[in-house]
Amino acid sequence: MKTGIFLYYQRGERLRDFPEALKGILEKDNVFLYDAFYPSKPPSSFDLESISPEMLYQIHSPEMVERVRKTGNFEGALFSATGTVRAAEKIWEGEIDNAFIFTGYGDHHAGTDFFGGGCYFNGAALAIQELRKRFGAKRFAIIDTDAHHGDGTWEIFGTDPEVLYVCFCGNPNSDENNKVDIHVPVGVTDEAYLEMVRNTVFPRLRNFQPEVLFWNWGYDGTRGDYGDIGLSPDFHILLAKKLKAMADEICRGKFIIVLCGGSRRDLARTLIPRMIEVLALK
Ligand SMILES: [Zn+2]
Ligand SMILES: [Zn+2]
Repeated sequence: MKTGIFLYYQRGERLRDFPEALKGILEKDNVFLYDAFYPSKPPSSFDLESISPEMLYQIHSPEMVERVRKTGNFEGALFSATGTVRAAEKIWEGEIDNAFIFTGYGDHHAGTDFFGGGCYFNGAALAIQELRKRFGAKRFAIIDTDAHHGDGTWEIFGTDPEVLYVCFCGNPNSDENNKVDIHVPVGVTDEAYLEMVRNTVFPRLRNFQPEVLFWNWGYDGTRGDYGDIGLSPDFHILLAKKLKAMADEICRGKFIIVLCGGSRRDLARTLIPRMIEVLALK
């Protein structure tokens, strides 16, 4: 397994310990670091070219893109989404098998003409559109375990049965057109959550047979973070192992973890290297 790490240089606290916290991982011969280029950092030979405005317009309205420009977070949002799109391309072309995407701004609250909650562009949606357009790929699955409902992703793919979106959140259970909400009660145990994944997601993924599996991974539901639903830090690693095994089984390991919600720097520092180690297991 070749694992790509798509590094975004975030201002602020959450990712302050990176890339230093990846020591010992970057040295592995099957791990590759790509820099999501950001003008304020020194250029490197692994810099990625940012996605174009035309690519943004494949998912988001020009008016919305203009509104994002006015927030002052355009550049960070663009390079966050760039990491996801470039990872998907490199996986499809066989340069790497799976990827972890550092983002400054998340995905799942960004729809075709709206954004909010710290999300500006929908990286997973842009990556899916690009794989369809450039390579003729068809079927995708997105598992969303951020604590909040992914209203943007839900809206973008609402009428598209070829994208299975399974969103674990506070909404009541619902299931329509391969858009699935699974209700997670506040105070859920790690075991009960993993049981829900095993019972509802795994059979569905095996049936659906996606070509690439995306995971909108937020850790905001961990105890003590802003979306606290009672999860332990280890929950995320256990789920990573299960989803990685599932991707290996159903889509030849094509698996992209996109960092979404979560604010605690200590959790980022301890969890992200462990997530990447799971991806890079040979
Ligand atoms: Zn969230
Ligand atoms: Zn939801």
